[in-house]
Formats: sequence, structure tokens, C-alpha cells
Amino acid sequence: MPTVRIPPGSPEAQYRRAGLMIVMTCLLLTSVVTLLLSGPLEVQRTDRLLLGLLVVKNAAYLLWLWRAPQQFQLVGALELGGEILAALYRMHDVLLLDHTAHGLSGYSYWLALPYLVASLTFPAGAALAAVTPYLLGLGVLGAAYWQADAVPDVLRQDNTNAWLQMLLMHTTFMAVITLQQQLRRRYAHAVALAERKSAQALLDPLTGLPGRRALHDLLDGPHADLSVVYFDLDHFKRVNDTYGHDVGDDVLRHVARGARASVRAGDRVGRWGGEEFLILVRGDAGVAAQIAGRLREHLRAHPHPVAGAVTISCGVAQRRPGEDTASALRRADQALYAAKRAGRDTIELAPPDAA
Ligand code: GH3
Ligand code: MG
Ligand code: MG
Repeated sequence: MPTVRIPPGSPEAQYRRAGLMIVMTCLLLTSVVTLLLSGPLEVQRTDRLLLGLLVVKNAAYLLWLWRAPQQFQLVGALELGGEILAALYRMHDVLLLDHTAHGLSGYSYWLALPYLVASLTFPAGAALAAVTPYLLGLGVLGAAYWQADAVPDVLRQDNTNAWLQMLLMHTTFMAVITLQQQLRRRYAHAVALAERKSAQALLDPLTGLPGRRALHDLLDGPHADLSVVYFDLDHFKRVNDTYGHDVGDDVLRHVARGARASVRAGDRVGRWGGEEFLILVRGDAGVAAQIAGRLREHLRAHPHPVAGAVTISCGVAQRRPGEDTASALRRADQALYAAKRAGRDTIELAPPDAA
């Protein structure tokens, strides 16, 4: 059994729903125009009634697709089923009951539509499975027409030939649509993979925090009110020397988790490199210092299970109006340096108007 379900909300689902909406819009316009052009009421009462129902059906499906995007496969399946049944019924009528085959030309132009609707509604395998019986049904009708005694000989040859050409065209259409659908699938997978990889490349693999490149991107964005907390673990070399590099790595992860837990939604934490981290804070230096204080308290309350208490030194700088982010970072770095000189485990604010 081929997979049938397309994850709702995925780009693929959006594309397919949009395709179905285009098809239903065309069908709605066609049914309205045909209804307006159909002859006098007395002559074609049932035809006009059917056309009216078609208009209502097409409008209802379009509305359904619009209001309930996640149900596009249900709408597509109903439309497909209706099309296949109507086509086989109508063509049975035209070919085997009304042997003059009047309606062949007009209606038969739409007989290829189920392949399109199936390919929009279902993945390639399921779409193929849904329309193959239809194609076979059309073939059986053609064969029965060829065999029917009541068909005038002048028509038999021409109409059977036209029917055969049409079936060959349908087969070609179906094959190309299937191939195209598979290509599109692979393309969608490749795009999703590339997006995932490029998102991963921006993350620091050790801590899962945004890495330096991602931080640069975040710093380049528009900021009305930005402060940075630049912090560095105190005597981290000792942790590595005492407990080994693996414990050192785990301490970095521990601090990263603590930092994530200490910032507000909307603030961003990243690993700048080594044992140095950056917090981007929306707000002034006071707010940023408060968040740095929260992190220090968090680390005091949560010692690392092996390495014990971890302390940090923080430099805080608020970006001045018109100042570029590199300059604000430099000032935060100087403040951090001052915090180290002041004996570590402390927070220093960059002087507001020093260069
Ligand atoms: P200070 O208080 O002055 O910051 O002292 P420190 O020992 O923390 O500073 P120093 O710059 O001398 O040492 C930083 C150490 O961080 C050296 C380096 O081996 C270690 N380090 C950097 N990146 C990693 C990492 O990814 N994993 C581990 N385990 N250690 C790292
Ligand atoms: Mg350092
Ligand atoms: Mg350090």
C-alpha cells in the first residue's frame, strides 16, 4: 500500500492545495459559462439542472479548500471520485447508448483531468493506483464501442481511432505527471535537508546554542534597544586540568543550560567561542546586568555534579545610538577584562560614554 498522507501544513501540502484550488476555480468558471450558454429551458431541462448542481458543487469545494486547508486531500479525493464516475457514466452513455457519439468532442477534453487531480491529491504511487482503473475503464468502453453492432460503420472507424489516440495521450500525460511528481518529491527532500543542515551549521555542536556566526547574524539585525552580556568562565583551565577535558565539556553544557534558563523570552544566548558566551538582551544596561546576576545566582544554586561551583565574570555594555555592534562588543570585552581584574565572579558595566 503506497503512502497516501501528506503532512498538513508542509510546503508540499500548501503547493498541492493551491493546485487543487486552481483546478476548482477553472471548473467553477467552466460550469458557470456552460450553464449560461446552454440552450432554452424547455429543451434541456435536465442538462441545466445538472449544470446548476455542478456550479454549486464546484463553488462548495473551492470554499472548503479555502476554509479547511488541512482537508485538501479529502476534497481532492471526493472530486476525483466524482470525476471518474461521471466520466465513465457519461462516456458509457455517449459511446454505447447514443451511438452517434455526439458528445464525444466537448466532454472528452475534460477526460484527462482526473490524472491532474490525482497527482495533486496523492503522492505518485497512490495517484497512479487511483487513476489506473479509470484508464482501463475508458479502454473497456472503447473496445465495447468497437464491437457494438448498432454503431454505423462510417463512425466506428473514426471514433475508435480518436478514442485510441486519446487513451495514448492519457498514458503519456500520466507517465510524465508521475515522473514529475517523483522529481518534485526529491527536490522537496533536498531543500528540506539543505535547510536543516544550514540551520545546524549555525549551532554550536557542543552546547546546541547559536554559534559565533549565528550571533553575528543576530547582532546585525535591527535593534532599537540592545545590550550585551559578555561572560567567561573563571579559572576554567583548572577544571580541564583537574577533571579532564570531558568534564570540562560537560561544564560548558551545564553553563549553557543555566544561561538559557536565566534569560527572558526574546533574549538570545550564544557561545562566542571556547569558554566565552554572549547574551543579547533587549533593554538597557541595567536590565542586562540584572540578567547576568540571575545567571550568577543560578550557577551558585546549581553546582556542577563533578566540578562543583562554577563562577563567571561578566562584562555588560549597552549599545549607544548610532554605535556599531563591533564597538559595543569591544566595550563589553573591556568590561569583562575589568571584571577579571577585579577578582572574578563579578559583573562590570562598560562606562556609558568612554570610547
Ligand atoms: P580566567 O578566569 O582568566 O578566564 O581563567 P581561565 O582558565 O578560564 O582562562 P584561560 O583562557 O587561560 O583558559 C580557558 C580554557 O578553556 C583553555 C581551554 O583549553 C579551555 N577550553 C576552550 N574551549 C574548550 C572546550 O570546548 N572544551 C573544554 N573542555 N575546554 C575548552
Ligand atoms: Mg577565556
Ligand atoms: Mg576563563
